[in-house]
Amino acid sequence: MVRFSVGDVTITRIEEMNGPGMKPEEIFRHFDPAMLDACPDALTPDLYHAKSGRLFSSIHSWLIEIGGQKVLVDTASGNDKDRPGLFSRFDHLNLPWLENLKSAGVEPEDIDIVFCTHLHVDHVGWNTKLEDGKWVPTFPQAEYVFGRAEYEHWTTGPGAANLPDNKAVIDDSVTPLIGVADVRMLEDGEEVVPGLIAKIAPGHTMQQMVLEHDGANGGFVCSADVFHHPLQVWYPEMSSVFAENPALAARTRFELFSEWASKGHLVLPSHPGAPFAGYIRQQGGKFRYEPATPV
Ligand SMILES: [Zn+2]
Repeated sequence: MVRFSVGDVTITRIEEMNGPGMKPEEIFRHFDPAMLDACPDALTPDLYHAKSGRLFSSIHSWLIEIGGQKVLVDTASGNDKDRPGLFSRFDHLNLPWLENLKSAGVEPEDIDIVFCTHLHVDHVGWNTKLEDGKWVPTFPQAEYVFGRAEYEHWTTGPGAANLPDNKAVIDDSVTPLIGVADVRMLEDGEEVVPGLIAKIAPGHTMQQMVLEHDGANGGFVCSADVFHHPLQVWYPEMSSVFAENPALAARTRFELFSEWASKGHLVLPSHPGAPFAGYIRQQGGKFRYEPATPV
């Protein structure tokens, strides 16, 4: 179990999967193999599988324990979901994510807040579970919190038309919560709970949100999919093929990397491999990724 602590706040990684995933030339636009030479810290054996040329890709949730509340950030891909086509790697999964949550000492009933940074297939799956043929909330006591603009993008906006495979994701992992669970929609800059601020970080999805804590004893940010792999810390201009707006995603990376580096935040992204979190350092006009040390 990988765990970090910042001041009085504890952040635990709840694993769904981790292993060699896509090759850099598959996931990134404008990738050049010569780029690999310049950034050894991004290519440790836990981040890059040199033999196959594949980047490690984790899917996990972050469990934040703050002020007596348990906040689950993103809910991975989920089990039993029907995912033909583009998302077939997530089709009818049967993975022990829920058991991993329990191993962290937390039952689904204990979760106070579920916050989804954005509504992609690998961030909302465990919002619901299959019970008697119906999708029901996995966390019966929780308030589910989404960015209002992100929710509208996928329900009444152009999201589903732009990425038709994600419509089924909304239908089985988001819509079944409405009218059944407590659901709260956030605006940019609002608190999820005291001490955790959600901020729009556009580009990957247009209204993706990161979750930031600025504490007297240090800060951190759950950085969602602002970057997928530390290679993008060296090359912030390089967006993934999943970005809705690649140019905007790149601008957001430049701005946020500068901000997080100057604040010294612990950065908790959604997909890099072990140790799964790090610091953005600024050095000679460039950024570097320094892996963090779990407690
Ligand atoms: Zn993702």
